[in-house]
Amino acid sequence: MNNDSLDNQMDLSIELIKQSKKIYIGSHIQPDGDNIGSILALGLALKKIEKEVFIVKTDEIPSDYTFLPNIDMIKDYDEKDNIIDLFIALDASDLDRLGSKKTMVLKANKVLNIDHHKSNTYFGDVNVVSENSSATGELVYRLIEKMGIELDKDIAACIYTAISTDTGSFMYDSTTYETHEIVAKLLKTGIDKNNININLYQNRSLERTKLFIKALDGLETCFDNKVAIVKVTQELLKESKAKMEDTEGIVSFIRDIAPVEVACLLKEFEKNQIKISVRSKRYIDVSQICEKFNGGGHKRAAGCTIYEDVEKAKELILEEIKESFR
Ligand code: 5GP
Ligand code: MN
Repeated sequence: MNNDSLDNQMDLSIELIKQSKKIYIGSHIQPDGDNIGSILALGLALKKIEKEVFIVKTDEIPSDYTFLPNIDMIKDYDEKDNIIDLFIALDASDLDRLGSKKTMVLKANKVLNIDHHKSNTYFGDVNVVSENSSATGELVYRLIEKMGIELDKDIAACIYTAISTDTGSFMYDSTTYETHEIVAKLLKTGIDKNNININLYQNRSLERTKLFIKALDGLETCFDNKVAIVKVTQELLKESKAKMEDTEGIVSFIRDIAPVEVACLLKEFEKNQIKISVRSKRYIDVSQICEKFNGGGHKRAAGCTIYEDVEKAKELILEEIKESFR
C-alpha cells in the first residue's frame, strides 16, 4: 500500500472509530510484544475519547508482558449478548490468527484491520496495512497522532514495547528513521525505558535459563553451518520446569551464530502439532518458506505449524529451507 492510500485508509479508520461506541480490540493467538503493546495502547487511547473499549483475550499473555500498564484490561469477554459496533484486529495477518475470536469478527458491524505483515489478507472493512512499518505499534502511533489524542506515559510505554520487541531492540533492517522519530516522541513523554528494557530483556527466570542450556545442547547445523535448528519438546520443558513461552529468545540466539543465515526453532505443543519459528539474517525470505505450510510473517521472521511429529516436521521444514537457498 502506498503512502497516499495508507493515509486514506487511516482517515477511513478514524471515521469508523468516530461512528462506533462499543469497540472490541482483539489480541491474536500466541500474542507477542507488538500485539500486546498495540492493543493496550490503542485501547487506552480510545478510552480517552470516551469510547466503550473491550480488549479481548484470545490466548494466554506471556509473563514477559505482564508488567505493562493496564495489562488487566485484556480480558475474556462473552460476545453472545453484546453488540460489537467495531472490531479492531491488530498485528493479525489473517482471520485464523484471531483463533476462537474469529466469531467476534464475523459478528461485528464493522471490522478494522491494522497490520504490517506482507501476507495480510485484507479481511477488514478498512485495512491499514503497511509492510514498510517495523511494527504494528508504529501504525497505532500514527493513528493516535492523527486522531489528535494526546500521548501519555502508559500509552507510550505500550507502543515502545511493541516497536522494541518487533525490531529486535531497533536492530532489524525493518527499523527506519521514521521508527526512531516515533521512538523519540515516546521517550519525550518521560517513560522509564530502563525499567521497560529490564522487564523485557533482563528478567530471564532460572527455569528459562535451564531450558536455554538444554535446548542449545541439542543444536544441529547443516548446509555449511548456514542453517541452525533447535527443538523444544514437551519432555525438555518438563525436565527444565519451563513453559513453551520460555522459548522466547532461543531462535534469535542461534540466528546470531556467525555463519548462520537461517535459524529454525521447532516447538512441540502436542505430539503432532509443531509450531515453527524461522529467522534469517541477510538474504533468505523466510515468510516464503512458512507460506508453504500455511504460515507467514516477514522476510526475516516468520512462523508456521506443521501437524506431524517433531522429526517429520524437522525433515519437512529443512527440505523447504534447503530449497530456498537454490
Ligand atoms: P514467531 O516465530 O515469533 O512466532 O513469529 C514470527 C513472525 O511470524 C510474527 O510476525 C508472526 O506474526 C508471524 N507468524 C508466526 N506464526 C505464524 C502463522 O502460523 N501464520 C502467520 N500468518 N504468521 C505467523
Ligand atoms: Mn508485529
